Parts: sequence; C-alpha cells; structure tokens
Amino acid sequence: MDLKVLADIAKYEKRFDAAIKLANSFKCSYFIPFIIDPEIGVLLPAPGFPQTIPNGDVWNSFLQSTLTKKYYSDRLPYPDLENIQPATGFAGPEGSVMVMLGGRPKPREVAPLLDLFPLLVQLFTQEQAFKTAEVRVELADKSAAKAEKLANTIDLMRLKLKELLVRQKRDKNDIEVLMEKKDEFMNVASHELKTPIASMKAYLQILNTKLTSVNDEGIIDLFNRANKQVDKITVLVNELLDVTKIQAGKMEYDSAVFDISELLQEVVTQVQVTAQSHHINVEKNPSVLVEGDRHRLDQVINNLLSNSIKYSPNADKVIVCSTLADDQVKVVIKDFGMGIPEDQHKLIFDRFFRVSETSHRYSGLGLGLYISAEIIKRHHGQIGLESSEKGSEFYFTLPVHRPDRARDKKG
Ligand code: ADP
Repeated sequence: MDLKVLADIAKYEKRFDAAIKLANSFKCSYFIPFIIDPEIGVLLPAPGFPQTIPNGDVWNSFLQSTLTKKYYSDRLPYPDLENIQPATGFAGPEGSVMVMLGGRPKPREVAPLLDLFPLLVQLFTQEQAFKTAEVRVELADKSAAKAEKLANTIDLMRLKLKELLVRQKRDKNDIEVLMEKKDEFMNVASHELKTPIASMKAYLQILNTKLTSVNDEGIIDLFNRANKQVDKITVLVNELLDVTKIQAGKMEYDSAVFDISELLQEVVTQVQVTAQSHHINVEKNPSVLVEGDRHRLDQVINNLLSNSIKYSPNADKVIVCSTLADDQVKVVIKDFGMGIPEDQHKLIFDRFFRVSETSHRYSGLGLGLYISAEIIKRHHGQIGLESSEKGSEFYFTLPVHRPDRARDKKG
C-alpha cells in the first residue's frame, strides 16, 4: 500500500482520486467508505466522495448485509446504473462500511487497509461534524439575515402605520371642524330664517281677518296655499333649530304630569283636519298618566302621524293604538303605505337619514325621527319600528307616572 496514496486520502480535495489509486492497488476500480450521518442516522459516502449513488435501495440492502455479515459480496451499479460491477463490503467501526468495487478482494488481502480504516472513520466523522457545524453556522447566518430583513420590514410598517394614524387623526379633526362649521351654519341659518317666517305668518293672519269681506274664491285659495307653505317652512326651520339644540345639549324640557290619552286624541284631531285623504282610526286609548314635556311629546306623535300619512299616499287609513303593560304605555302608529326596507330599519333614526328609493318624492330633511328618538330617550322611553307586511308600524313607550315613586324621588 502506497503511503503517499494513504496520506492523500486524508486530504479532502485529493480524496476521491487517491481512493481510486488505492482501489487499483487491490485490483479494484473504486474504493468508497461509508459512515453514519448523525443528523439522519443513515449510511452515506464519506465527505469528499460523490454523495449520490445509483439505485440507493440496492446499495442500502448491500450495506445492511455487510453490517450483519461483516464481510459481504454482490454486484452493484456504479458510477451509474449501466455499470454493474462486483462489489465487496467490509464492516468497520461505529457502523461504518468500506466498499471495494470492480473486484472481490478477500479480507486478508485488504487487512492493512482494514487496520487503518478506524483512523479514517475518525477523520471522516470529524470532518462531517465540522461540515454540519459549518452548515449550521451558514443557516444561522441566513436566519439572522432574514430576521434583520424582517425587523426592517416591521420597522417600516410601524412607521407607515404611524403615518397613517397621524393622517387619520388629522382627517378626523378636519371632519370634526367641518361638522362644527356645518352645525354653526345650521344654527345661524335657522335663527335668521325664524324671524322673517314668524313675520310672514303674522302678516298672513292679519290678511286672514281682512279676507272675511272678500268673496273672491281664487284669492282665498291662493291665501290658503301660501299659509300651508309657510307652515311647511316653519316645521323645517323648527327641526333645524331642534337639531342644533340637541347637538349643543341645550334642548330644554318642561316636565308636567298629564294624561297621554288626551294628548294623543288632541294630535289625532289636529292632524285629521289637514289629512282628509286618510281616516285616523284610534283603536284603543286608555287614560294613562305620564310625566314629561307635553309640547315635545306632541311633536313626536305629530311627526309619526304626519309621516304615516305622508308616506302612504295610496292608502286611506292609519291606525293608532295605545296599550298599557308593565308600567309602560305603548303607542303604536300603523300605516299601509310604502313601508321601510328591513335593512334600513336601524338607520331610520339617524340624523338626515331618508330612505333613498322613496323619500326624494316628498319634502323633508330626515330630521323628524332623529328628534323624536332624542325626545323619547330623554323621557326614559323607547322608540322603534316593527316591520309589517305592508306599510310601517312605528311605536314609542313611556313609563307610567307613579305618584309614590315621584314622592320617593323627592323625599
Ligand atoms: P322626513 O320625513 O322629513 O324625511 P323623518 O326623520 O321624519 O324625516 O323620516 C326619515 C325618513 O324615514 C323619511 O324620509 C322616509 O324615507 C322614512 N319614513 C319615515 N316614516 C315613514 C313611514 N311611515 N313610512 C315609510 N317611510 C317612512
């Protein structure tokens, strides 16, 4: 055995060629040592040898047979599938195997090599461990680089998020300023409109007294129309004023104890005078005392009743029904008109909300229900809308006045 060849086998770069020379010295063509890879627990060609072998399954069973029998011969494909050559395996230390290809040397013929094989296995194992460590370091480096990249991305995202938040806050402030300006405008405009409208109404009243002596039906008709329009503007301006009061938390309530059935009947009679197209049918109206602002509750009933007539142009009746249950009086106003789509029920009490499909045909600002909801809330009641097959069914509840409770509160 040439010592130089053996020395070259110890050198990683020269190993494969030196191994061929060594094999030739035993009348073989290839010498391949196998050691266990500790990572996967499988026999693999030692470092410095090609790591792929043709038909791994056949090789594997050959190596296992060598391990069990210590010395084993067969035929194996190498270096490719086409080259099937005689192969002899010799079991080495720590589950290693050395394979001679292209010949069938006996153990005694390779005895000097077998004696040195443990040293080679030790060297290969160390190299392998070193290589694994190297791979690990490389992987760790790569992971560190990835982590750094990720950290940079996160930093960038955090910055962007911060920027977005700042912008959102600025937009929110802008919107708030705009809303404030809009409320201010509404306040000023409605106040400015209120006086001329009141004057107009007063002039119309004076004119009305003079009209008694006029027999011209055309003039009387024009007067009535003008009067109606002024009433409409008055309602709109009052709604705007109410909203600005609610927004500023300045809506005032004069509380008194009164019979809700009387108020209900009063409003029905009053609305019935102007709504000749519909009959307002009061089904039940028990006498119940409530405590609250009569004028504001008048406004709520008026609004619900006017809406039920306004939004049911093809119907001819509206039903009003008041019931008493669990210390609450519930007033229901049911119409047989266009109704309100189910998905818009929860928006109906919002400021300026109007059902887009229908309401453009009718005048209004979308404030009446918002104001009504606010008034009922301040009276500790509830307001809502129940779907009905045809038309709408609005209701509100109020707590029944209990003198003992009022005294308790005072005392
Ligand atoms: P306005 O009638 O001045 O528009 P409201 O706040 O009183 O304002 O009503 C808001 C919207 O709700 C109306 O524009 C209309 O689309 C819808 N609405 C209210 N009452 C009824 C009803 N009885 N039937 C159908 N739609 C209604």
